[in-house]
Amino acid sequence: MKTFGFQRAASVGDAIRAAVDTGGDYLAGGTNLVDLMKNGVLEPAALVDIRRLGLTTVIETASGGVHIGSGVTNSALANHPLIRSQYPVLSQAILSGATTQLRNMATVGGNLLQRTRCPYFMQTEFDQCNKRRPGSGCAAVGGFNREHALFGAGDACVATNPSDMAVALAMLDAVVHVQGPDGSRSIPITDFYTLPGDTPHIENRLRPAELIVALELPPSSCAARSWYLKLRDRHSYAFALVSVAVGLTLTDGVVSSAAVALGGVAPRPWRVPAAEAVLVGRRPEDSMLWDAAHHAMSGARPLSQNAFKVQLGRSAVHRALVRALGAGDQ
Ligand SMILES: Cc1cc2nc3c(=O)[nH]c(=O)nc-3n(C[C@H](O)[C@H](O)[C@H](O)COP(=O)(O)OP(=O)(O)OC[C@H]3O[C@@H](n4cnc5c(N)ncnc54)[C@H](O)[C@@H]3O)c2cc1C
Repeated sequence: MKTFGFQRAASVGDAIRAAVDTGGDYLAGGTNLVDLMKNGVLEPAALVDIRRLGLTTVIETASGGVHIGSGVTNSALANHPLIRSQYPVLSQAILSGATTQLRNMATVGGNLLQRTRCPYFMQTEFDQCNKRRPGSGCAAVGGFNREHALFGAGDACVATNPSDMAVALAMLDAVVHVQGPDGSRSIPITDFYTLPGDTPHIENRLRPAELIVALELPPSSCAARSWYLKLRDRHSYAFALVSVAVGLTLTDGVVSSAAVALGGVAPRPWRVPAAEAVLVGRRPEDSMLWDAAHHAMSGARPLSQNAFKVQLGRSAVHRALVRALGAGDQ
């Protein structure tokens, strides 16, 4: 690991100043950043420790939503009574990821900004990776790509976003609150991540030294009947091949609103309005759930090794919809 500077910030203002002065990265739980530093993928000049900023509260907002500090740990959020009762899909998504020990360290802000698990990015032995070495090419396009993207990718990069939590947040229309040298702003999670285009090393809309201070969940009519389903090579300690967060509202037996987001298939959590449109205004019969599942995966562009994820995705969407419909009756 290369030598780096280290500063511990006592306030949000301190942290932002230190990041501007040093050009360093924020250190939260360190479960992703430190790993990547150890194997030479990232070599920040300095780390700004943000673990003592007090951004650790989860509170109900006046509008009936929930405000979540960016320093709340993944465990604390998944197990919080407000989240378990009002946004069970978020709890399920977080608990499907990593391990208890990791979730105890990992924070909301760090989870949102964790980097892809593409092996060509994670291992410096590979020369080609446009994310790690812009302009070097993408080895995954013609190489190992069974876990890679079906949507939103391009010749420059086919890596997926690995976060389970972000998929549920996309389904719930969460908003990311950030603060930086030029003030505060709020970014809908569905706009927060950028697609690779010609610049795969740029993954989100954060500006230099901007700090994620909080997330906000709006009140959600879909959250009561919601489900997160994650399909992977083994049941624990593995990232998603395909995951699905779904939520439905039923009014007099008819679907009056629906939200569907996919994970493990794109460079960002992938909302699928086409599937949502199929669901709304109809009674939830099995044929219609399959119809939505087909729409969710339409437009997929499989790579040489991952065509199996298209059918896997359809089955996952169908099964998640069945589970969400059942969840509301419990
Ligand atoms: C073995 C293993 C298995 C895992 N399995 C899963 C899984 O199945 N599903 C899943 O979703 N995740 C999984 N993870 C990833 C885990 O969820 C992330 O490592 C974790 O959420 C990162 O949070 P952190 O607080 O430790 O972030 P850090 O490692 O501290 O930081 C990560 C990045 O976020 C930036 N950052 C952190 N906080 C802020 C902030 N407030 N504002 C701006 N920038 C910030 C840092 O500068 C850094 O770039 C796994 C990790 C490991 C090691």
